[in-house]
Amino acid sequence: MIGRKRIRELLRDEEICFEKTHPISKSLYKKAQKSLYNGVPMNWMVRWASPFPIFVEKASGAIFNCVDGKNYLDFCLGDTGAMTGHAPPDAVEAICERVKNGTTFMLPTADAIVVGEELKRRFGLPYWQIALTATDANRFAIRLARQMTGRKKILVFNWCYHGTVDESFITINDGLPGLRPGSIGEPVDPNLTTRVVEFNDIEALEIALSHRDVACVLAEPVMTNIGIVHPQPGFHDALRSLTKTYQTLLIIDETHTICTGAGGYTRAYDLEPDMITLGKPVGSGIPGAVYGFNQAIADMCTEKLDPDTSDVGGIGGTLAGNALSLAAMKVTLEKVLTEDAYRHTTNMATHFKKGVQQAVSDFNLPWTVQQLGCRTEYWFCPEPPRNGGEAAAAVDEILDRYMHLATLNRGILMTPFHNMALIAPTVTKADIDRHTDIFREIVAPLVKED
Ligand code: PMP
Repeated sequence: MIGRKRIRELLRDEEICFEKTHPISKSLYKKAQKSLYNGVPMNWMVRWASPFPIFVEKASGAIFNCVDGKNYLDFCLGDTGAMTGHAPPDAVEAICERVKNGTTFMLPTADAIVVGEELKRRFGLPYWQIALTATDANRFAIRLARQMTGRKKILVFNWCYHGTVDESFITINDGLPGLRPGSIGEPVDPNLTTRVVEFNDIEALEIALSHRDVACVLAEPVMTNIGIVHPQPGFHDALRSLTKTYQTLLIIDETHTICTGAGGYTRAYDLEPDMITLGKPVGSGIPGAVYGFNQAIADMCTEKLDPDTSDVGGIGGTLAGNALSLAAMKVTLEKVLTEDAYRHTTNMATHFKKGVQQAVSDFNLPWTVQQLGCRTEYWFCPEPPRNGGEAAAAVDEILDRYMHLATLNRGILMTPFHNMALIAPTVTKADIDRHTDIFREIVAPLVKED
């Protein structure tokens, strides 16, 4: 057991070090408080382990520079938005070209066809539409599912995250489904809109679906937002067959699991969802998201959606499908998120996992290390959690903060709120070894005998 007092002391030392070495970020943070609520453009940007956020200047590949002149190796990559690496040269060229020639028209560009065809090839679904964010893609997919089935409820897995989708803010609290802790301004009790069960719990899933009031299951194929929680053997087969039995549509959200490979987890493991949603890295960091659906849903749209009111029917966005998003998606799919890139980043992630695993074993830590494609993560429990509830129970906030900040002070940014590393295409073996050395250096004082 690592003593709380020891972790607190070590964390305090890291906070002092951070403050000393980031005077410009500190002063910008102070100035920002005069006009931005909490001193940041998004409220959650103060949730990092550092006493105030780092202000970024520029980035290239896996490295970013902060206003205090420091370089960081970035394993956060905008929580997947920059999984392509920052400013990939091919994407920069295509994006700049598009910006010079107009970005938004309410009309299609030919790039849209290349994007549609490539998504169809990669993921197997025949029809695609564009949104601006993964949140929106999920919201629109849910609407289509409701229209298709005539049912109102959706089902999600405990501790999932699918963006700011109202229906998904539900967790199982002391055995009872209710509002996710921290949710604000909920429109209605989430039990009215949503059923929630634990990931990998086939029995509970069947009971929930057997009410026959669930329009769709919205699921990440591997949970990634409460640590990495892999499906157990047979879970996906059961999920698909139960959703079919109870005439519930299956939406697979590949926004993070696109780290598995070019066709996401869906292609790698031959899943057969009715719909797929994907956002974040699909435009190399330019906002854009996509959602694809099967022939039956396309037929329903043809039958039920009136073109005269389709702009105000609940699936929309004036800037959705804009020329800039599409130019960015085209180049990303053609030249950036390629099979070759995945081969390299996945190998690097495996190297990362081995290095951390060796250290965990050498230092006799009761921690587990998980990998999904080019994403890896360590979690503070000896066995991999089987579901969101187990993963949430193993959260150790203070230890998490220490590991995050200590790594940051040594020049590496991990994905915050859990210690996850996403690998960009430019990352080298030497970069990974640097992380392993740092990991060993910062766990040593945690386990030191008094
Ligand atoms: N789906 C998943 C699986 C996500 O992890 C997230 C965000 N972390 C979203 C959807 C929402 O993405 P955005 O905030 O870009 O809309």
